Parts: sequence; C-alpha cells; structure tokens
Amino acid sequence: MKITLTKQPKQKPDFSKLGFGKYFTDHMLVMDYKDGAWGEPEIVPFEPFEMSPASNVLHYAQGIFEGAKAYKNEKGEITVFRIDDNFIRMNNSATRLCMPTFDAKVVKDALFELLKIEKDWIPTAKGTALYIRPTMIANQPVLGVHASHVYKFFIILSPVGSYYANGLEPTKILVEEKYVRAAIGGTGEAKCMGNYACSLIGGEIANQKGYDQCLWLDAAEHKYVEEVGSMNMFFVIDGVVITPALVGSILPGITRNSCIQVLKKYGYKVEERRISMDEVYDAYKSGKLNESFGSGTAAVISPVGTIGYHGEDMLINNGEMGPITKFLYDKITGIQNRVEPDEFNWVTKVN
Ligand SMILES: *Cc1c(COP(=O)(O)O)cnc(C)c1O
Repeated sequence: MKITLTKQPKQKPDFSKLGFGKYFTDHMLVMDYKDGAWGEPEIVPFEPFEMSPASNVLHYAQGIFEGAKAYKNEKGEITVFRIDDNFIRMNNSATRLCMPTFDAKVVKDALFELLKIEKDWIPTAKGTALYIRPTMIANQPVLGVHASHVYKFFIILSPVGSYYANGLEPTKILVEEKYVRAAIGGTGEAKCMGNYACSLIGGEIANQKGYDQCLWLDAAEHKYVEEVGSMNMFFVIDGVVITPALVGSILPGITRNSCIQVLKKYGYKVEERRISMDEVYDAYKSGKLNESFGSGTAAVISPVGTIGYHGEDMLINNGEMGPITKFLYDKITGIQNRVEPDEFNWVTKVN
C-alpha cells in the first residue's frame, strides 16, 4: 500500500477536553473507484480534496458513511469493536444507494495500517476513543440524475470524548409528531447522508423547546416508535426490555444488537417488536415504565430521563439512569475497554 506521511504533524489537542468530532488526525485513507473497479487504498496526509462543483454527491446526496471506534490501553495495545459489522452494513448501504461495494478485508487491513500510524492520537482515558468515520461519495461531475460511475471512499479519524456535553446525564427527548425521518421502502435502514439532512429539523424543534433530541415515529401512522436519529431506542416496561423491530425504516445499530445479545445472555427478557407511543404512555401512567435509553457508537448507551409527548413530560426513573441501563453501559464499555472479558468475540487487536 502506498503511504505518504505528512511533513507537518499537527499539535495534538488537550485529550481531557475533546468533545465530539472536532479534531482530526494527521492522515486519512483514500480509495477511488472508476472504470468499474476500486483502486488500491492509500494513506495520505489529512487535507482538503479537490472536487468539481458538479460532483453528484453535492447535488443528489449519493453518499454513505459509518461510525466505529478504536481504543488503546495503557500498554499501547490498539483494538477495534465489531468493525466487520460496520463494513458489512456499509456495503448494504452502498447497494441501497446504487453505489459499488468494496472488499471489506482490503479496507480493514488498510484501516489497521492507518490506526498504527495514528497510534499517538488514540486517547486512553475512560470514555474516550478514536472515532473512525468511513465515508463513500459519488464523485462524477455530471448533473444528469443517475448513479455515478466515479466514487471516492475515505476514512478520517477523530479523537473523541463523550458525545453529549453532559456525558452520562439522562437526556430529554421530545416526540416529533409532524415530521418523519424515514418510511418503509425508503432509505431509513441505510446509513446515508440524506437521512441526516431530513432529520435535522426535528432536532432543531426539540432544542428550541428545551429538549436534547427528538424521537421519531413511523411515517404511516405517526404512532409507533422508530429511533432517535443517531441512536436506537429501548424501553424497560414492567421488567421487559423492548426495542422497535427492524422493519426497514430503522437503522440496524450495532450497539443495539450488542445490547440485545448482552441482555439475552444475562437472562433479561427482550422483545423486538412494534411499540406505540400510547403503550409507552400507558406504561408511564401505570408506573410500569421503569427505564428508557438510546444506543449508538458515539454515546454507547445514553439514559433517557424525560420524554415529552402531547405537551406532557414523562419523567422516567426520577430522571436518573436505571439499573438495566447502567448494567449495559458498564458491560459494553467494559468489553470495549478490555476490562471485561470479550465473551462475544467483539474485539479485534490491531497491533
Ligand atoms: C449510526 C446510527 C445509529 C447507531 O448505530 P450504531 O451501529 O450502534 O452506531 C442509529 N441510528 C441512526 C440513524 C444511525 O445513523
């Protein structure tokens, strides 16, 4: 693989004040597709690319991405969590968006080289990681509406702290009843750029009303819970953990799947099914809504303290993180940080 190292390494940020996605490492991975085939991946300095203002991604949003994390322990050992699942999902997203799939093994090997080069950028403190952002964009300079014949794949890396400014503080979410994120048959289950553009408005409305995020409902009836737009949703009702089934409009989160596997192994009752907001509200009214949380790579597990619905705030578990939420957070971050045994074979060593 061709590797071009930077001549001007950047000053590293203060690792105790990283925030999320604000700093980028010195290098990135790039791989170009043309004439019906992917070229070799290359490692190059992190810098702007040139692209035509007519490039199709800029007009028709033919673009997909992924999010994963790499970790480093005190001994300098670098690991990644369920990275193969990210590349499988990215190839599924590519197929949905009429983009070419790639050889996941080639890309994974190249990513591991990049991680070794950027090892000093991987923070080690609890709650921190090196965020991995694989991206693929259509890059042919034509305005006709059809699938591009030219693509660029790249991976950039960002040292991150906790996703939300308040860390593990329970979040306040507002049920969005007017707009929708995704319909069955649409692109909701692909990790594509357009899904984010169309869902920004829900977040803005929620923020204006004093909530952190919005909770999306199904497109057909505005009745059933979908997800939070960057996190999958879970409710604990009368001791049973319930999460919306993957019906096509919901992103199949890897953290969601990890939660389900951990819960089942540890004897919790888990249901993947449709769950209406009315069911959640009734459970709340009868005192059976024990806990709620979101799951996603960025925040891992995020407790939900308040859900705003029909002008009423449902306060869940007194606005505090519940025991099942805490168990999952500790278990999954424990496996990621290698302080818990890797019972599910989720961790891969890079060096
Ligand atoms: C990425 C993402 C998630 C979380 O998926 P993970 O694989 O757990 O990170 C949830 N919802 C949406 C819309 C996403 O894009």
